[in-house]
Amino acid sequence: MITQLSFKAPSVKLNRLENLWFQLSNSTCNLSCKHCYLSCNASEKNKQFLGLDKIKKALEDAKEHEIQEIYLNGGEPLQHPDINTIIRLCLNKFNVTLITNGILINEKKARFLRQIDQERDNDLLFRVSIDHYDEEKNDSIRGRGIYKKAVNAIQNLYRYGFVPIISVVNLWEESDTELKQGFISLFSGLDMEFDESDIKVIPPIKLGEYAKNFEIYNDNEIVSSEDLAKCDLKKFDCFNSRVITPQGVYVCPLLINDPRGKVGNSLKDFSKEFYLELGSCYTCTQHKDNLLNNSY
Ligand code: SF4
Ligand code: SF4
Repeated sequence: MITQLSFKAPSVKLNRLENLWFQLSNSTCNLSCKHCYLSCNASEKNKQFLGLDKIKKALEDAKEHEIQEIYLNGGEPLQHPDINTIIRLCLNKFNVTLITNGILINEKKARFLRQIDQERDNDLLFRVSIDHYDEEKNDSIRGRGIYKKAVNAIQNLYRYGFVPIISVVNLWEESDTELKQGFISLFSGLDMEFDESDIKVIPPIKLGEYAKNFEIYNDNEIVSSEDLAKCDLKKFDCFNSRVITPQGVYVCPLLINDPRGKVGNSLKDFSKEFYLELGSCYTCTQHKDNLLNNSY
């Protein structure tokens, strides 16, 4: 499964396509977080949404694969003008995880989403991004007042029977366990029961805004064959995932802004093998679980 190029970047081959991502809003987002690896924001020049035609085609092509989960991602996917139709279309065939900053999830929206979920056999899951249980720390990265809005979204979802996965970027090099315990205590004080498995902590990806505001990958942060040989390939998102974007099929959600991440035009025609020559690939080798898919 692991092969070697002359310049020493090893590769990972797609095993089975189990996780299909839709990059619904490209880099359009109602926030502009200081660590966003895609440099998302609300600017008009970023405004681009994945067309319904492309989504329907990919869902049709996906029948040839053993898809276990569809991921709806952005930017902020809830800004897509056809989001309700998209959730229904995807849920008709597969389980769906919607990855959101929560800003648009008020009580009415949570109630509506529960109705959509109950109409179908497949499951609708949410992953809500919040980077610290401490309001000041979170808002120093995600923007003033965002902590309260994210907590409010989590409460709204919980009220309607969803236990969202909490998505945390560990920006201050804290212990993952302490971070998780901090969130569990926070939610417990708000009468919500979470356990460690509901909280996904990942390291920062040194691309986009993070690279501008904090740190870039250095020359030593490259993947060697020796490093890769020590890894469990199942933890690499490129081992079992691909992303549908307005520009074509990409290897993983981390690389949708990099032309080197493009692996094809459609699910009928895309490359199964990818050479891990990018700094973000190094982050994947260093992290003990996969960075993006739910299985962790
Ligand atoms: S990190 Fe998430 S919420 Fe923040 S700007 Fe990027 S896509 Fe939007
Ligand atoms: S960034 Fe990670 S998931 Fe993406 S291609 Fe590199 S190793 Fe694979």
